[in-house]
Amino acid sequence: MQNKQKHYSIAIDGPAGAGKSTIAKLVAKELRFIYVDTGAMYRAMGLLILKEGIDIGEEEAVGDFCEKAEVSLKYQEGRQQIYLNGENVTDSIRTEEAGKMASAVAKFKAVRAKMVDIQKKIADSNHIIMDGRDIGTVVLPFADLKIYLTAEVGVRAERRFKELTEKGIYCNIEEIEKDIIARDYQDMNREVSPLRQAEDAVLLDCSHLSIEEVAGSIIKLFREKLN
Ligand code: C5P
Repeated sequence: MQNKQKHYSIAIDGPAGAGKSTIAKLVAKELRFIYVDTGAMYRAMGLLILKEGIDIGEEEAVGDFCEKAEVSLKYQEGRQQIYLNGENVTDSIRTEEAGKMASAVAKFKAVRAKMVDIQKKIADSNHIIMDGRDIGTVVLPFADLKIYLTAEVGVRAERRFKELTEKGIYCNIEEIEKDIIARDYQDMNREVSPLRQAEDAVLLDCSHLSIEEVAGSIIKLFREKLN
């Protein structure tokens, strides 16, 4: 029998705006891994429910719609592109509204089951660094390295404000901080796969560290694990 090739995986979980995706992208580049942004998948689902005008309180209807939807990830020059029913929605899912809708649909079992299945399949055949809320606890319980990345809420709000403003999106920092607190609360207190630090995850607080410092620490931790 042929041995299955070992694919390495790094799981990063943590609250909104902690810098997970920026850091994961740097690590992916250095290690030549694929970066999988799982939040983008929930955002795409949130956007779909919003566009279709489905009542977010109707769990069955939301689940049915998500089940029928086609979500896929493609990579262009190493950058993840997300497709929803054949349409590239990579840029349109980046609003605060899509983030809120993502969190609202992400609490449903049927939605999570579909997303987790896609994520596990990607991890089966690639070396990956994947970020989200349930990666170390549910999607990749046997990841080679698990990180729980966090930062003070004020720092996270400021970073998100800067990111959106630089993109020309008008926003208000107090509103952003309120949204972050509400979204974290919802993600940490839902019944299905709540956000929590996996027992074997390394806690990194990046409030007072640069992106490069955190990425460097993760790469070092990963290399140490392999030796
Ligand atoms: O990471 P991002 O802010 O793009 O995620 C949007 C929302 O998607 C999160 O607030 C969370 O509710 C949901 N999510 C999740 N599980 C993941 C990734 C994201 O529930 N693995």
